[in-house]
Amino acid sequence: MAVPLLDVNAQNLPLEAELEAAFRRVLRHGRFILGPEVASFEKAAAEMLGAKHALGVSSGTDALLLAFMALGLEPGDEVLCPSFTFFATAGTIARTGATPVFVDVCPVCFNLDVVDARRKITEKTKAIVPVHLFGQSADMDAVNALAEAHGLRVIEDGAQAIGATYRGKACGTMSDFGCYSFFPSKNLGGFGDGGLLVTNDDELADRATILRVHGGRPKYYHHLVGANFRFDTLQAAMLEVKLPHYADYTLKRQANAAYFTERLRELPGVVEADPAHCRCADTQSEWIEEEGATLILPIAYDHNEHIWNQYTLRVIGEGRRDALRDSLLAREIGCEIYYPVTMDQQPCFQSLPDASRQGCEVAHRLADEVLSIPIYPELNDAQKDEVISAIAEFVEAGVTEATHG
Ligand SMILES: *Cc1c(COP(=O)(O)O)cnc(C)c1O
Repeated sequence: MAVPLLDVNAQNLPLEAELEAAFRRVLRHGRFILGPEVASFEKAAAEMLGAKHALGVSSGTDALLLAFMALGLEPGDEVLCPSFTFFATAGTIARTGATPVFVDVCPVCFNLDVVDARRKITEKTKAIVPVHLFGQSADMDAVNALAEAHGLRVIEDGAQAIGATYRGKACGTMSDFGCYSFFPSKNLGGFGDGGLLVTNDDELADRATILRVHGGRPKYYHHLVGANFRFDTLQAAMLEVKLPHYADYTLKRQANAAYFTERLRELPGVVEADPAHCRCADTQSEWIEEEGATLILPIAYDHNEHIWNQYTLRVIGEGRRDALRDSLLAREIGCEIYYPVTMDQQPCFQSLPDASRQGCEVAHRLADEVLSIPIYPELNDAQKDEVISAIAEFVEAGVTEATHG
């Protein structure tokens, strides 16, 4: 049985009639850019997140870029961000002319290692960008304490974590700006590109609102140079249809993750990640060899609500990750390596100063070990069992190989 990595139709087609009605409404009123549905969607999203201001924007990437522009990042500034993330986090920093400085990550939750971040602060450091990777929050108390001690701005990349929480607070609302994406593979997937920027700061919200429309206020009078970061009314109207279902989508992802973990941890050599190896907060633990582990399952920390944008395995042993990927693909089970190349290893960043590309050993190791399997809400039990049986076949074959040399 084929199991796709993601099936957007399984989520969207049950809402087809409502989506068509939303489409028709926008078609008829004709206000296609920043129209009435943008305002109502922004209000609903702000309420859901507990943020004071929410701005619909053209993509998650543009939400990041707009946040950096509103904060006035410029050439000469240094900005800390994790080395293990999607390219947009680092690319948007570079686009402002600032220098991204890559920080190592935690082998348990894959998020920014705050001790390493502290080590990399210089007098040029202006901001830090925690990414809530795969749907789980970075350690925001540790990040914010570091930022406060060194006068840094904090911008949360919550592209994969809309609705996730840290100690009861929504990811994206614990800093100067939170950035989200509605790319179709994100948990609140849109119908094309789209994103959201939130802040609790009135002045920053105002600045971002002006920059979203080329920096003009009033129209055609420019005190600032912005860009076109506008949100399409159609996206807002269609996302408004999905928003009331969002909590249910999250519950289903969480149930899928629990189902995988319960069954996979029974297999030989399969363990859950050990929170004692956490590196995101203030304790530096030694690098990790879980006793005899061949495959490590992801966990959610107790203080986090994880929304499982990805369920990401670590496959231990040289070449083993690629072997598992090949055997899943041979059974037509979708899987993907998020991410095979760390930011400090990207060809476009090789011209950065050495100091901004050092000490990302955990990130490098993760890039060799990670594999994400299907976790989307509409997976049925037969599909989940197919994924589990394929992984079981792989690890059991590995055990046999090991015992018989
Ligand atoms: C998807 C993603 C982005 C960019 O969002 P787009 O809407 O695709 O531009 C930024 N950061 C992270 C971590 C992402 O996963």
